[in-house]
Amino acid sequence: MSVPFKLASRLDPIKPSITLAVTAKAAKLKADGIDVISFGAGEPDFDTPDHIKAAAQESLGKMVGKYTDVAGIVPLRKAIATELSTVHKTTISPDQILVSTGAKHSLYNLFMALIDPGDEVLIPAPYWVSYPDMVMLAGGRPIIVDTRAEDDFAVDPAAVEEAITPRTRAIVLNNPSNPTGAVYSKKQIEALAQIVLKHHLLVISDDIYRQLVYSDAQYHSIAAVDPHVAERTILVDGVSKTYAMTGWRIGYTAGPLPLIKAMSKIQGQSTSNPTHISQIATLAALTGPQDCVAQMRKAFDERRQEMVKLLRAIPGVTCREPKGAFYAFPDVSAFVGKKTPEGSILDDDVQLCDWLVEVGKVAVVPGSGFGAPGFVRLSYATSMKNIQEGVSRLHKSLATLS
Ligand code: PMP
Ligand code: GLU
Repeated sequence: MSVPFKLASRLDPIKPSITLAVTAKAAKLKADGIDVISFGAGEPDFDTPDHIKAAAQESLGKMVGKYTDVAGIVPLRKAIATELSTVHKTTISPDQILVSTGAKHSLYNLFMALIDPGDEVLIPAPYWVSYPDMVMLAGGRPIIVDTRAEDDFAVDPAAVEEAITPRTRAIVLNNPSNPTGAVYSKKQIEALAQIVLKHHLLVISDDIYRQLVYSDAQYHSIAAVDPHVAERTILVDGVSKTYAMTGWRIGYTAGPLPLIKAMSKIQGQSTSNPTHISQIATLAALTGPQDCVAQMRKAFDERRQEMVKLLRAIPGVTCREPKGAFYAFPDVSAFVGKKTPEGSILDDDVQLCDWLVEVGKVAVVPGSGFGAPGFVRLSYATSMKNIQEGVSRLHKSLATLS
């Protein structure tokens, strides 16, 4: 006998994370013995650097099995405050830092602390899959501001201003962007900063990829534009991508004290402190040698160039050059509506991706999940061999569509 469950209606608009779903599907096929190449989740294939693991290992003899301060251990909050103060050219105190279970958790706490029912949050599209759903879980309204591939996915300040209403609380700035790899120029950052000041908005600056920029691109901080903007900026950052530490689950927020206190209250009533041993590993990551970051960045850059070159060689595919993060985001709209050799019509990018993984044995994430139908996202945080073999599979599969 099964009990009928009435689930909370706040879940009605919420979708599962498509990035995690695609990755899980590829992992299941692999576990079933099927040789699938996955460009799914954005997760470095490198192991966490040895000195970080050694710090965690060493701490095992020192009572790490206890609760810590809800907001994180003081030495870690100090180290984060020091680093973020330098990067963003502003003064951030350790009290203004909340360490959470991944940057995803930081963002969740943030929206829960900030958003009242009906409040609006501006989200430039293509966007990372979880922003709109987190805003909705908090009772808010995600307001999508579209950008165009032709403009290298740059956010048009006029489009942002047009989307502002009396209910607008904040704008999300993901720089570099997941999924497009776009990096905001200094001029674009300054233009957005002016809008933030003019309309008294908050900026949620998700900087999780800030150290992964390539070629001539540079990361520019919106908080650094001027102290009035810094007061309105909430910084979300973490170690998952930069130090290959996705599984350690540490992210952090820096922001105005009342907001950080409110977020700590939520964290104290839900998860409490993030894992102690992971906090110790994060402290080692932030205060230890940084050459591991440069090495991984160099490898990502080489893979980025190879992937873009191979994608551009596929007839019908166009791909802008991603300048940051570790994703390529090609336009595959030319293949939507085409027929497979098995006889079915691929009505949209979701069906295209389903067919690619099942028949082509290559997993990519549909652009619809990022608010960009007709595109697909490929993570190049994987080996050169996988990139070459995986994009070759994509190439061959797409060539069979008619
Ligand atoms: N923001 C962006 C843009 C991301 O791509 C991710 C992906 N993991 C996160 C936040 C969350 O990172 P984590 O929870 O692993 O720290
Ligand atoms: N952020 C990564 C991605 O976009 C990991 C998966 C997730 O948390 O969404 O693939």
